Amino acid sequence: MKNTKYVFVTGGVTSSLGKGIIAASLAKLLQERGYSVTIQKLDPYINIDPGTLNPYEHGECYVTEDGAETDLDLGHYERFLNIPTSQANNVTTGKIYQSVINKERKGEFLGKTVQVVPHITDEIKERIQILGNTGDFDIVITEIGGTVGDIESLPYVESVRQLLWELGHENAIVIHLTLIPYLAAAGELKTKPTQHSVKMLMQSGVSPDILVCRTEHKISDSIKNKLALFCNVKKEDVIESIDAETIYDVPNLMLEEGLDIVVLKKLQLPQDKQPKLKEWNNFLKGFKNPKYTIEIGLVGKYVELHDAYKSISESFIHAGAHNKVKVIINWIHSEDLTSANATRKLKNLNGILVAPGFGERGIEGKIEAIKYARENNIPFLGICLGMQMAVIEFSRNVLGLKDANSIEMNEKTSNPVINLMEEQKSVVNFGGTMRLGAWDCKLSKNSKVFNIYKKELISERHRHRYEFNNDYLEQIEKAGMIATGKNPETGLVEVVEITSHPWFIGVQYHPEYKSTVLNPHPLFLDFVKASLEHSLN
Ligand code: GLN
Repeated sequence: MKNTKYVFVTGGVTSSLGKGIIAASLAKLLQERGYSVTIQKLDPYINIDPGTLNPYEHGECYVTEDGAETDLDLGHYERFLNIPTSQANNVTTGKIYQSVINKERKGEFLGKTVQVVPHITDEIKERIQILGNTGDFDIVITEIGGTVGDIESLPYVESVRQLLWELGHENAIVIHLTLIPYLAAAGELKTKPTQHSVKMLMQSGVSPDILVCRTEHKISDSIKNKLALFCNVKKEDVIESIDAETIYDVPNLMLEEGLDIVVLKKLQLPQDKQPKLKEWNNFLKGFKNPKYTIEIGLVGKYVELHDAYKSISESFIHAGAHNKVKVIINWIHSEDLTSANATRKLKNLNGILVAPGFGERGIEGKIEAIKYARENNIPFLGICLGMQMAVIEFSRNVLGLKDANSIEMNEKTSNPVINLMEEQKSVVNFGGTMRLGAWDCKLSKNSKVFNIYKKELISERHRHRYEFNNDYLEQIEKAGMIATGKNPETGLVEVVEITSHPWFIGVQYHPEYKSTVLNPHPLFLDFVKASLEHSLN
């Protein structure tokens, strides 16, 4: 059993400062020094999870092995640390209240008035310590979403205050991530917003131990001294976090600034080992010195917000770096794609990826993109809805079933090649009820996917309600689209391939959730390789 230490990360001045990246970078350095580390995200919104949120709100919904629908920051944690997260790694205000209210209904509070303090804060503290109490981690880093001063963050900051006292200063510390804006007219970096946000934190009884300062320009010693003087920290506890070329540079930047050393000193943990960043730096070398460039079209209906496809774009970075290929993503709005403009928009692409999604908007554009990829031998990867649309495109244009559709889009279609899964028929609530998390899939030998994964049994993460309708399997396979991956228990189709095409694969699962810096996903690696070959021909 480890004596787990806690690091809280709060944010000041503005949102979008990259708390998740700082938390992940610190965790990486600690992990590569030999500590076991995990990262947790507390989200102050009232939704139980982001599963029912429109991606335009907070970007992609990330899915864990155990089927939690979570904030996209968990994707960064996994991509940096190369270890899976779980249900316990993402907590929302909705989850906290739901659990407290359930306990109240069961009479567990024995007639007490149920209040934010202590009942909500107790629940928050319990959720924070769940990961530590497993005994698996030396250090748990907990990122508090939102910005200090927000009404909805208050119970979280109060819980942190209580925990700092209860756990003791050598066991729990606070890193405050803040912004040092540059005023071009004055030619100066300004510390005042940081002073104010630290004051705000202190009004809640929490004094930051370390300031990480996001900045566009180098922070001079005199600025560091000023911040130290006004914010109750030492100068060496003021860490500069300058804009980086890629998020994957941040661990090295934090190493140079000594963030990990300051954290270990405060937690009274040994600092003798050096972080082993060789593999990480090899990846960076590949990323920064590409030999080739390819262009992949990412066809989706949320492309205005690239964060809606975060795990996919990061998977291309991992796979590109390992292949020494720079992958340029051409973001294509599925609603803008028609048979009239498909050739013009798609002809220069070396690969086409049709993205996951829900609902009818933009699906005809997705089908156009798939038709173009199929007919013009362009490497194609369809993910989840992208795979379902590939089945529909094939049924319509190769089998001649003109009204083939998914019953998600048209309940009355006479050819429901994509059907509602049996276990979904009785589902009434939308939240957390899809087929979620890791499921096994058995690949057929002699298939392209088998050659890619190099094994028969794989496990991949899912998030869907609809499935390939096996009543059509025989016809579809006869015409050349083969189901080469199936769930071994249920026979649900997981992978389809067109064997006469150089690289045409649709997957019902989400490979993008499992790609990490040190473990790029085999499907993305091979898709990039196939797209590179396409570009060289
Ligand atoms: N809407 C489809 C389904 O629920 C696909 C989901 C997805 O792309 N994640 O089956």
